[in-house]
Amino acid sequence: MNTPSQTEDQSSLIADAVMQKAESAAAAFRKVSALKKAAFLDAIAVEIELLGKTLISCANRETHLPDDRLLSERSRTTAQLRAFAECIREGSWVEASIDTAIPDRMPTPKPDLRKMLVPLGPVVVFGAANFPFAYSTAGGDTASALAAGCPVVVKAHPEHADTSELVSGAIHRAAKKTEMPPYVFQHVRGTGFELGQALVMHPHTRAVGFTGSFAGGKALFDLAQKREKPIPVFAEMGSVNPVCMLPEAMAMQWESFAAQYLGSVTSGMGQFCTKPGLQIGFDNADLEKYMGALGKAITGTKPAVMLNPGIAANFYKRRTESLAQKGVQLEAKTGFESGEREGTPSLASVSAEHFLNEPALHTEVFGPWSLIIRCRDKEEMLSVIGKLEGQLTATLLGTDRDLEENPEIVEAMCRLAGRIIINGVPTGVEVCPSMVHGGSFPATTDSRFTAVGLSAIKRFVRPVCLQNFPKHLLPEALQDENPGKILRMVNGEFKR
Ligand code: NAP
Repeated sequence: MNTPSQTEDQSSLIADAVMQKAESAAAAFRKVSALKKAAFLDAIAVEIELLGKTLISCANRETHLPDDRLLSERSRTTAQLRAFAECIREGSWVEASIDTAIPDRMPTPKPDLRKMLVPLGPVVVFGAANFPFAYSTAGGDTASALAAGCPVVVKAHPEHADTSELVSGAIHRAAKKTEMPPYVFQHVRGTGFELGQALVMHPHTRAVGFTGSFAGGKALFDLAQKREKPIPVFAEMGSVNPVCMLPEAMAMQWESFAAQYLGSVTSGMGQFCTKPGLQIGFDNADLEKYMGALGKAITGTKPAVMLNPGIAANFYKRRTESLAQKGVQLEAKTGFESGEREGTPSLASVSAEHFLNEPALHTEVFGPWSLIIRCRDKEEMLSVIGKLEGQLTATLLGTDRDLEENPEIVEAMCRLAGRIIINGVPTGVEVCPSMVHGGSFPATTDSRFTAVGLSAIKRFVRPVCLQNFPKHLLPEALQDENPGKILRMVNGEFKR
């Protein structure tokens, strides 16, 4: 199916029709009980599973991602939907807080005050090319917005628009089976930026969830700030995910680190936002051994087709640009010929001195590429870390002694990112309550939130205080007679 291309006027008309419907759904969806919303999310997971092989084949045809990767991404997506269903069934996420009245307080009586989180309203979601399920139509943004009680409009990613259409069908069937209000979920297709921009600018849009490139996320963020009424844009963008390699660990484990990092740099042709793009080490014999082992393994790694022609072209543009910077040496590349649209797994190195002077090396090369920075000493390593902008992840490879002897490095790395990893790889984002997939700008547009894990729901709600409300007008979560905080839902009833 071809994705239609719209003019600016057509885009405005489509956006208006869709957002009017989303707004009409918002009031009704707010009143749907937590148990019914949870049943809706569970039903979406089931409907996605029922698509079986059809979905996997379609996604494989559109993205070239292998079936096993797509199957595991589908499991992650359905598990995420079920986790949000469980979260809203349990209920404490609304942060209900009750301060009962003290009418005889002196010198002034205290009113009855009750607070909880409520949905923002219609949310527009943009998915990323590299995760056709988990960061797309029924991915984390959609699951968390629906869980919060916000109607969702998904702007389909044109590079997996048919996959997106199939998942959208599953969501529509789930909505019908669980008797959700009409237009609680809508799916729009289009090429060109006009439709997405018109959706962001529409007055009924209350928030945006975006996963993708820095250019895309920043453009939509800036646009939203120009609205008469600005709205939050939660954009998860690119990251270079620095890895700091400390001396004792490198001396003891260079070989096993090289094996681990081969997978992290090259699996999925490096098309992960958490791929380690910069590795910072001390310029010594152990680093040479590490680079030799990783380089040898990269030489033996076969190229594979990248997600789409645009991403492949951008990879080669950024790779060429990086190799052209002063002092950059190509340490290794695949020993196989790369075909059309295939990536070329590559490892390069540069001295810290050159790195510090070349801003082009500080940003993401999306694909199978990693740059090793050779530092003379700790001061240089700290200068390199100090030059880096906000990141999704920061990794430290170090023994206990390394970590004890280098507290400034540990601290500098901890300040950089939303998730700090010790002796592991940054790729592989676990979906669980403690996950933070976020970080300071430019990794995201709002470091206070995460796009993965249950607290992702907090992006699409706002706190509301109800003062002196009679019991029959209070939402269920705020109907308790006693002062206090945090109620939990047990068997469909709010309990302390
Ligand atoms: P992308 O090119 O930014 O596209 C993402 C979506 O945003 C598409 O639907 C695209 O629409 C839309 N879009 C982009 N620029 C726009 C603009 N100026 N105005 C309106 N809409 C715009 O990114 P991608 O190709 O999907 O993914 C590759 C990038 O995503 C990589 O850099 C990777 O690091 C990043 N990524 C980040 C994360 C994370 O969690 N931070 C996860 C996965 C990927 P059209 O295609 O219709 O133009």
